[in-house]
Amino acid sequence: MTRLIFLGAPGAGKGTQAQKVAELCHIPHISTGEILRNEVAQGTDLGIQAKSYQEKGELVPDQLILDMVLHRLSEADAQSGWILDGFPRNVAQAKFLDELLEKLQQHCDRVINLEVPDQIIVDRLLKRGRKDDTEEVIRRRLEVYRSQTAPLIDYYNERHLLVSIQGNQSMEEVTASLKKAVDLDCSTP
Ligand code: ADP
Repeated sequence: MTRLIFLGAPGAGKGTQAQKVAELCHIPHISTGEILRNEVAQGTDLGIQAKSYQEKGELVPDQLILDMVLHRLSEADAQSGWILDGFPRNVAQAKFLDELLEKLQQHCDRVINLEVPDQIIVDRLLKRGRKDDTEEVIRRRLEVYRSQTAPLIDYYNERHLLVSIQGNQSMEEVTASLKKAVDLDCSTP
């Protein structure tokens, strides 16, 4: 059973690596950013509420995210493992997740912290060119990351769950470092 959280600044490569590990281990890759973008595209209530925050690079209010994660982790495919990407994004969300996992009688195995220098992050995101990848919004997302999400590095380090990986390598090299650092349990599809 593999249950991992991916931490890292926007553009650190969380999504790419999380998807890779999810495929290798046959478990769902749960990206809160992607779920929200789909909700926005479909114009659901949640999407309508999330849109303005996402466009500005602000965090979407916790209550919207927490309900979403609660539902997603309760689905059948998440009972045999998961990769969380983009959640938790602040200490309140991390505490909520701790309680939720206790209720579900699950635990997170490892928190992967993908480390990439800031200049490289901005270059990568500008090249990616997603709707929220304009220079101003990127700058705001980095600020939000530093002030709200980076404290989770200490939070999980204190709980002995943190593994840091250098994200400033080729995609294949990052995946290889990851496999080496985390003993992936992918035997049961
Ligand atoms: P990135 O990691 O490149 O910033 P994501 O796809 O993870 O991109 O997230 C994009 C946006 O979605 C965020 O800037 C934020 O507005 C919203 N979002 C995603 N996950 C969360 C979360 N856990 N809490 C609050 N907002 C979130």
